[in-house]
Amino acid sequence: MEVKTSLLDNMIGVGDMVLLEPLSEDSFLENLKKRFDHNEIYTYIGSVVISMNPYRSLPIFTPEKVEEYRNRNFYELSPHIYALADEAYRSLRDQDKDQCILITGESGAGKTEASKLVMSYVAAVCGKGQEVNKVKEQLLQSNPVLEAFGNAKTVRNDNSSRFGKYMDIEFDFKGDPLGGVISNYLLEKSRVVKQPRGERNFHVFYQLLSGASDDTLSNISVFLDCNAMQIVGFMEDEVQSVLELVAAVLKLGNIEFKPESRCNGTDESRIKDKNDLKEMCELLGIEQSVLERAFSYRTVEAKMEKVSTTLNVAQAYYARDALAKNLYSRLFSWLVTRINESIKAQAKTRHKVMGVLDIYGFEIFEDNSFEQFIINYCNEKLQQIFIELTLHEEQEEYIREGIEWTNIEYFNNAIICDLIENNQNGILAMLDEECLRPGTVTDETFLDKLNTICAEHQHFESRLSKNSKFLNDHSLPHNCFRIQHYAGKVLYRVEGFVDKNNDLLYRDLSQAMYKANHSLIKQLFPEGNPSKVNLKRPPTAGFQFKASVGTLMKNLQTKNPNYIRCIKPNDKKASHIFTESLVRHQVRYLGLMENVRVRRAGYAFRQAYEPCLERYKMLCKRTWPHWRGPEREGVEVLMTDLQVPADEFSYGRSKIFIRNPRTLFFLEERRRQ
Ligand code: ATP
Ligand code: MG
Repeated sequence: MEVKTSLLDNMIGVGDMVLLEPLSEDSFLENLKKRFDHNEIYTYIGSVVISMNPYRSLPIFTPEKVEEYRNRNFYELSPHIYALADEAYRSLRDQDKDQCILITGESGAGKTEASKLVMSYVAAVCGKGQEVNKVKEQLLQSNPVLEAFGNAKTVRNDNSSRFGKYMDIEFDFKGDPLGGVISNYLLEKSRVVKQPRGERNFHVFYQLLSGASDDTLSNISVFLDCNAMQIVGFMEDEVQSVLELVAAVLKLGNIEFKPESRCNGTDESRIKDKNDLKEMCELLGIEQSVLERAFSYRTVEAKMEKVSTTLNVAQAYYARDALAKNLYSRLFSWLVTRINESIKAQAKTRHKVMGVLDIYGFEIFEDNSFEQFIINYCNEKLQQIFIELTLHEEQEEYIREGIEWTNIEYFNNAIICDLIENNQNGILAMLDEECLRPGTVTDETFLDKLNTICAEHQHFESRLSKNSKFLNDHSLPHNCFRIQHYAGKVLYRVEGFVDKNNDLLYRDLSQAMYKANHSLIKQLFPEGNPSKVNLKRPPTAGFQFKASVGTLMKNLQTKNPNYIRCIKPNDKKASHIFTESLVRHQVRYLGLMENVRVRRAGYAFRQAYEPCLERYKMLCKRTWPHWRGPEREGVEVLMTDLQVPADEFSYGRSKIFIRNPRTLFFLEERRRQ
């Protein structure tokens, strides 16, 4: 067998940055650009895949390509996401190792597309047969369903994921897929009621509107492409229910309120035009008067007593929006649960899993709120796991192979994670403390608290921070704090933090929903059941998110990681444009240079003895054409014969480690002569 090191053969630029000579940030960027200009969007750093978003379809994802990469060694062919998918799949099937595919990069960098490429590759190469094909089809079709409900156009990305997604694909001992389990992380539900300028609501609303030619909404599923939902296993009546709910959220958004003066001098809210209310109630089987009352009063239960207060116009709008957000986000979670019911492995016990993580990418908008804070925190955690695992894995390999390890300086973002999630004085803990505190709690009191407690943290800035640029920069608003994230500084406006973290829905509304003659709605609001009075406060949004991300990180650490680092070439969503400054920034914060250095610090290149001997045995009379002894000895004979300086390589237990890429080039040159 000939092991073709194509990373060096006929390649545009250098296929593996580890072999780049000389190595500098400039040469790194030059290499990326050169490859990008020649449609080579993938480049390796050892086993890490860098993926540049081409913003156009390239003919490199064909069934022929799948065949080409199938069962080939990682470095055999030119860099491709399929090589990573193949390596992960084979390692799962043949070596019994759970895998995870970690896809990172900022919004619009190509994570979701990459996750789909990995999934479709694995689906193409694993198992055959009717039953298996059905499983594959369902796993793949869960993507368009969740994208319709969970993705939206933002200024950064026309198809931006507004939720985090982790999917375990389960396999049996033969490597055939059995099913899957999806976990979803905090949907950006504020988008349901308000979208920043130039952005849109979740895709499904537009799909629904373009499908519905009249407003009776009867048979609406006829107009929509609900094929994917059906493949995933939704019954026709379930599809109808889901669409009714989406339509109800739209109707809800049309309801307006006007003030009506009372004799005691206060203003009470009234619904302006009851048409939309009526239609919404018809859709959901709710008695109109029940919902109307829930929009006019708020009932507080205290010590066996019920006290109702009237809502003013602002409060009524607040209640309306809270209901819309809750309806939609609960529907979304229900969809995930429902999909899981369909796709979970039947009967047979699972053997190994491949987890694919596709979250919302790091984002900086003009106006950043609680949602961006949560999204960026999630990205910090992923960067952290990358740092821990790449260094850890590298270190482990040296230890396993009995090779000495050299330490490399790198920026560890653990300090930023701590600023956010520390149980005592982390930002999330302080937000929770504030939300639970009796007395008047506002976003400003929360900010005051942050200002005093975090003022000296080196990654936190506010007007009160020591050495803060805020002090001199009067253009910056008062109601903000700034975090220096691994990927850049983000200014967060504190307005809405308390509210979004509390995530409370007036009881009157959940009870009105529970009364609906609509089984799905009823299911979504179990707390509206009057016989289940639960005065315990539900956990805050931040608390839940932190807990679920913590669980996810622990889960990922038990698996063998495979990294795809996505890079966005420009800010214009355009093909053929490589904006150097933007790419440079990403290369820096993703820590890619450090990644290469760590990989090279010890040894730039490593290869198991057998393929190494196979490839280079022709260079030495004693090993050519056949070497009969142990492979390691063969390699030793080779190296001695070729007079490679002893400090240029080390013999590990199963591999040879070559320090300098030049040694490899030397060997390759000799082969060509
Ligand atoms: P977000 O964090 O906002 O969800 P993302 O990293 O998931 O962003 P994607 O949605 O995967 O970004 O990619 C954005 C767009 O870029 C896609 O809709 C597609 O138009 C284009 N794109 C990404 N990857 C590819 C690819 N491999 N080939 C062609 N186009 C691509
Ligand atoms: Mg995405």
